[in-house]
Amino acid sequence: MFDKKSYTLYKFHKQLNQAFQNKRELLESALPVLRNLFKLDRIYFFDWQQERAILSLRMMCKKEYCMDKQEDISVIGESNFLRKLLQEGITETEDLSYPAIYVLLKWQRPSMGLKNGEVYNYMQDKVGVLRLERFNKRRGFTSQEKELIKALGQEISHNLRNTEIDQAKNQRLNVSTALNDLSTVFASSLRLEDGLEIILQGVQKYFRFDRVRLYLTDAYARRIKSALCVDISGQVTRQTQEEIGEQEQSLLKEVFDAEATYRSTRSVIYIPLKVQRSKVGFLAFDNVLSRRRIGYLDFISLQQFASQMALSIDNARLFERVQELSNYDELTRLPVRRYFNEKFAEEMYRAKRFNLTLSLLILDIDFFKQINDNYGHQIGDWALQEVSRIIRTSLRQTDVPCRFGGDEMVIMLPSTNSDESKIIAKRLQDRINAITLPTKYTNGEEIHISISQGIASFPTDASSSEDLLEKADKALYVVKKNGRGHFAAYREVVDQTADYKKE
Ligand code: GH3
Ligand code: MG
Repeated sequence: MFDKKSYTLYKFHKQLNQAFQNKRELLESALPVLRNLFKLDRIYFFDWQQERAILSLRMMCKKEYCMDKQEDISVIGESNFLRKLLQEGITETEDLSYPAIYVLLKWQRPSMGLKNGEVYNYMQDKVGVLRLERFNKRRGFTSQEKELIKALGQEISHNLRNTEIDQAKNQRLNVSTALNDLSTVFASSLRLEDGLEIILQGVQKYFRFDRVRLYLTDAYARRIKSALCVDISGQVTRQTQEEIGEQEQSLLKEVFDAEATYRSTRSVIYIPLKVQRSKVGFLAFDNVLSRRRIGYLDFISLQQFASQMALSIDNARLFERVQELSNYDELTRLPVRRYFNEKFAEEMYRAKRFNLTLSLLILDIDFFKQINDNYGHQIGDWALQEVSRIIRTSLRQTDVPCRFGGDEMVIMLPSTNSDESKIIAKRLQDRINAITLPTKYTNGEEIHISISQGIASFPTDASSSEDLLEKADKALYVVKKNGRGHFAAYREVVDQTADYKKE
C-alpha cells in the first residue's frame, strides 16, 4: 500500500501531530525521531539570520539527549554553499571528515509592526538549518535518504509554523488578558487617581519594569500637571506641577515630537497618550536599573494599552468636569446644597476629631419677593448674582458657601468662632448693602439690597451638624423678627427663639 517513503512520512507526521508550547519543545520532540530513523550520531539546529549572515546554534541532539545552545557562527564567505542550500533545500558538506548534510527549514511566524502609530500584523519569514551527522566515514547518505530527509524537513517547517502561530496567540492572549483585567479595575474605580494607581502598579508587576511613570497634562495640554510613579517595589509616589522640574517638563514636547518609537537597545520607552489630536499625557516605562531590554512584543502591547488608557483618562476627566459643574448652581455659581453637605460633614468630623471651632452663617435677602414683584424676575436674578459674587469674593479659600435654596445662602467657616464670624457677617452686610439695583429698572430710585444673617458656632452652640444648622436658622429667625437688615449670633438671642418653628 504505502511505499517506504510515504510510510515514514506518515509516521513522522503522526508523531509530531500535537500542540507544542514553543519551537524548542517541538525540536526536542522531532530531532530524536530523525536521529532514530536515520541512525544519526548528532543533529544541530540553527536559526539562520540572513540579514546578519549568522547561523545561531540553538540546539544539539546526541544519542542520549538534546541540549540548548546559544552560539553565533558567522557565515560570511560561505555564500556559495548557502545559495546552494537555499536553492535545493539540502546539501552535503565536504568540509568534515565524516558524512554530514544540511537541510533547509523555512516557515513563517506572526509578527507585529508599527506604521504611523498604528499596530499591524504580518507574517515574518524565518529560516533555519539542520545539520545531520554520522561519525562513521563509510556511512554516507544515500540519495533516497536525502530525498526523505528533505521531505521530513518540510514537515518540520510546517510544524514550526503552527507552533509559532499558537505561541504568538497565547502570548498575545496573556498580555491582552492582563491588560484587560487591569482596564476593568480601572473602569470600576470611583476616582480617576485611584484607578490610575492600581493600573500602573498592575503594569509594573506584570511586565516587571523597574519603574513605570505616568505624566498627565494640564487643561491646555501645554505642561505636565501631575506625575505618578510606581517603582520596582510597587510603591507609588506622586508629583504635583510644582515638584516637576523643567527638564521633566521638556519631556512632554520631546515625546510628542518623536511619537512612539521602539529602540531595542534602550531600556526606556516613552509612549504618548492622546485622544484624537489632544495630548492627555505620556507613559514612561524603564528598566534603567536592571538594564533589561524591553521586548518588541511588550512595546506593541503597551502601545495598544496606552490608547485604551488615554481614552479612559479622557472620559474620566470629562466625567469629573461634568461632576464639578453639577456641584455648582447655575445662576449664582455657588456650590449646591448636596456638595455643601458633603463638605460640611467632612469639616464637622475634623472639628470634632481635632477640637477645632467651626461656624455656620445663614444669610437671607430681605423682602426679596418684593424685588421680584416690583422690578421683575430678571432684576431678582441679577440681585441674587450680585449678592453671590460678593459672597464668593469676600471669603477665605477654606470657607464653603452654598446656595441653600431661593434667596437663602449658607456659609461654612472652618476654624472660626462666633466673634470672628461676626466680623465676616459685618463685612458681607456692608458690601451687600452697597449694591444699588440698576436705576433704569427702578424709575431712577436708588434701591439697596438688605440682608439678614444668623450665626451659630461649634462647639459652643451645638454638637452636631443638624443642630448647628438649626441654631443658625434660629438666630436668623430672630433677626428677621426684629426688623431685618442685621445679624446675630445664636448665643446672644437664644432667649428670643421660643416661638421659632421649623418650616
Ligand atoms: P424675607 O425678608 O422674609 O426673607 O422675605 P422674602 O421676600 O425674601 O422671603 P420669601 O421666602 O417669601 O421670598 C423668597 C423669594 O425668592 C420667593 C421666590 O419667588 C424668590 N426666588 C427664589 N429663587 C429665585 C430665583 O432664582 N430668582 C428669582 N428672581 N427669584 C427667586
Ligand atoms: Mg428672603
